[in-house]
Amino acid sequence: MSIQEVIQTIENRYPHQPEFIQAVKEVASSIGSAYDSNPNYAKLKVFERLTEPDRIINFRVNWEDDNGNVQINRGWRVQFSNAIGPYKGGLRFHPTVSESVLKFLGFEQIFKNALTGLPMGGAKGGSDFDPKGKSDNEIRRFCYAFIRELHQYIGKDMDVPAGDIGVGGREVSYMFAMYKNLTHEYEGVLTGKGVGFGGSLIRTEATGYGAVYFLENMIAAQKDTMVGKKVLISGAGNVSLHAAEKATMLGAKVLTVSDSKGTLYDPEGLDQTKIDWLKEQKAQRKPLEEYVQKFGGQWLAGEKPWQFDADVAMPCATQNEVDENDAKKLVEHGVKYIVEGANMPLNIAAIDYVREHQVHYAPGKAANAGGVAVSGLEMSQNSVRQYRTFEELDQQLKNIMKDIHDNAASAAKENGYGDDSYIDYMSGANIAGFKRVADALVAYGVLN
Ligand code: NDP
Repeated sequence: MSIQEVIQTIENRYPHQPEFIQAVKEVASSIGSAYDSNPNYAKLKVFERLTEPDRIINFRVNWEDDNGNVQINRGWRVQFSNAIGPYKGGLRFHPTVSESVLKFLGFEQIFKNALTGLPMGGAKGGSDFDPKGKSDNEIRRFCYAFIRELHQYIGKDMDVPAGDIGVGGREVSYMFAMYKNLTHEYEGVLTGKGVGFGGSLIRTEATGYGAVYFLENMIAAQKDTMVGKKVLISGAGNVSLHAAEKATMLGAKVLTVSDSKGTLYDPEGLDQTKIDWLKEQKAQRKPLEEYVQKFGGQWLAGEKPWQFDADVAMPCATQNEVDENDAKKLVEHGVKYIVEGANMPLNIAAIDYVREHQVHYAPGKAANAGGVAVSGLEMSQNSVRQYRTFEELDQQLKNIMKDIHDNAASAAKENGYGDDSYIDYMSGANIAGFKRVADALVAYGVLN
């Protein structure tokens, strides 16, 4: 079956899964020549196998709210591929979670994990549970109930979940406690745990910091530096605020952050005091808008941050937050680099537009792989019951992000996607990630 026929089959089989179809098309758009270069890929139906998850576990989660009422949510774990290591990928708690969203995220995760060079397969999971407005006790009861259902399908060498939107250190710790309680095993089954009981230093910072390290490599490839670059960031969560922090540390000027209510614009740029205040404000679930009374700047209710002159844009909130109109605004406002901190924040039309306009564009599967890379390091630390220092891990993160950058750049150039002046990171990342997993599948024969 050709790649085009695989896409057609998926569109016919899953017409109600637009996010998943979008993610498959994005990968398919650039792996053609690599696919044709090895006849075994078609013979062994490698792309067809990679677009159908190994299995999807789907379950009901009953929990009790503070008023004693029984609440019911849906839970999933999409175990997509364990061709190159145990299933690995985050858990998302958000009302928009569906099978389509988790399949897109799990599919992306296969290639992202392959790009890190570490032995990790691809998976994703979560629930349509909405943590917003819930008390700490409700969150705890939900996490216990969720993992009580999921625990039998995960394990340190089988499937190792982590956090994502709505799931941070607190939630991972509750889930880890319940897993330990149910199984009587103290093992590295979840990453993103508290540092005192097996968690890795720098995991919280890793995705945002890693995305900025990737950006630094892109800028260096154009013989330029981060110093003085104006940066627009969306989101005000884990990825966004750590991206803002590292970009500021490296001498860039971060002008915006945002959330589901609107955008905060500070023409003076953020500094560490402002970033610490933002972290605290979001941790307490208080409005971003209050920043303006304290530090100045502007609050733009209901607006996105893509309307200001800048050199760099880092969408770090959620999927499909940048459409073609937004892409046009970014180009008009002089943006030369787009680095995806979030997963699939640009839709296909936006990606096409920015690439046609020679904007240097780094897809999430390469640029935001720092989080899962440090999770991979947490798995190895747990296996040998060791801790590494913040500085050691930061250096490893930097090295991994440089390797991902360089591998994507070489794969792009080798396959005719760009040259030194314009590197097509999307094609390079898709090809490098795909080849690593596809070669494993070929070596296995017909089994996954
Ligand atoms: P958080 O929950 O910490 O933060 C998400 C932020 O995005 C919040 O500020 C939220 O606003 C905002 N947001 C969510 N939906 C929308 C929307 N529709 N419009 C505008 N703003 C929105 O999540 P993370 O920072 O962990 O994750 C962000 C992205 O990064 C996701 O795509 C995730 O999959 C990806 N990612 C995360 C990794 C990690 O290590 N955490 C690793 C790799 C990728 P509000 O507070 O108002 O809800």
